[in-house]
Amino acid sequence: MKRAVVCGAGGFIAGHLVRRLKREGHWVRGVDCRHPEFSDSEADEFVLLDLRHPLDCAEVLSLPGGTPDEVYQLAADMGGMGYIHSAECEIMHNNALINIHMAQAAAKAAVPRYFFASSVCVYRDMRPGEPELIEEDAYPALPDNEYGWEKLYAERTVMAFGRRHGMTVRIGRFQNCYGPGGAWTGGREKAPAALCRKLAEAADEGVVEVWGDGSAVRSYTYVDDIVDGIRLLMQSGLEGPCNIGSPEYVTVDELAAAVARAAGKRVRLVHVNGPVGVRSRNFSIRRMASIGWQAQWSLQRGIAETYPWVDAQAKNRRRELTP
Ligand code: NAD
Repeated sequence: MKRAVVCGAGGFIAGHLVRRLKREGHWVRGVDCRHPEFSDSEADEFVLLDLRHPLDCAEVLSLPGGTPDEVYQLAADMGGMGYIHSAECEIMHNNALINIHMAQAAAKAAVPRYFFASSVCVYRDMRPGEPELIEEDAYPALPDNEYGWEKLYAERTVMAFGRRHGMTVRIGRFQNCYGPGGAWTGGREKAPAALCRKLAEAADEGVVEVWGDGSAVRSYTYVDDIVDGIRLLMQSGLEGPCNIGSPEYVTVDELAAAVARAAGKRVRLVHVNGPVGVRSRNFSIRRMASIGWQAQWSLQRGIAETYPWVDAQAKNRRRELTP
């Protein structure tokens, strides 16, 4: 039985990853600095540690029978555009410490395989009409925000530790990920969850606010597809970063329309000032396709799973707040 350590297991994607690893027969230790928010962790062991600290990183890798076979590093101080643009000092400080100390601890403990969750935020904004970006196009580097710069630095850090210490490293650059179990309120939520919440709270024929002019182009990847990608990549021979994301590109207004369809509501979109990020992004997923990965979930099908979950959370909160 393989033994895996999953960092950030109290969070969204790593919570889904723990469930997948368990289903595939792994023994799993999950670690986070907080308990999971929405359901109990399915990890065999769940430990509370602060991975900014080197001793905590060493502790999580010390299992009773020795070193884990696999480490999945998904812990990060992160959120949607609102959080990324406001908390840039926290993001640079906390994530750099987590990524340096986890890579160093894993190399020191002779962990055989290490996965790092990076992001397509490492890329610059695209020029109009430019063909899709391949992984090498992250250089010369010009990410739009500090979160992207830190991810780029962390990719290089973990690759250096991998090279010098004989640790196999796999890196996934995730596109926007959504699904049940992600942040949906409080400022860290991303566009799909935020729009699900706004639609859940809107009356039929009501008004929904959208940040920016609604024309920014993105793709959104359902969490099961991201987890498939992580597992395939970890078992593959693919060196270097790999884009993982759905090839279905939509504007923010089209995303809002997909959510409105799932909600069965007709609403009027009103565009307001807010952080939007880059205008457009379009990435090659040829590297992941070469190992047999492709997104299985259309946006509408993924939103049809996500909306009822956010709607239920919003209703629960309303009940709690009602005297
Ligand atoms: P999330 O916020 O739900 O999960 C991250 C977890 O890390 C949280 O539970 C948090 O408590 C934990 N964490 C933060 N600081 C910690 C610390 N000091 N010690 C221990 N745990 C700590 O985020 P997510 O959406 O599940 O993202 C997982 C990973 O994927 C992150 O590295 C993120 O940058 C990356 N990513 C996510 C997306 C997306 O759309 N969700 C896109 C690109 C990349």
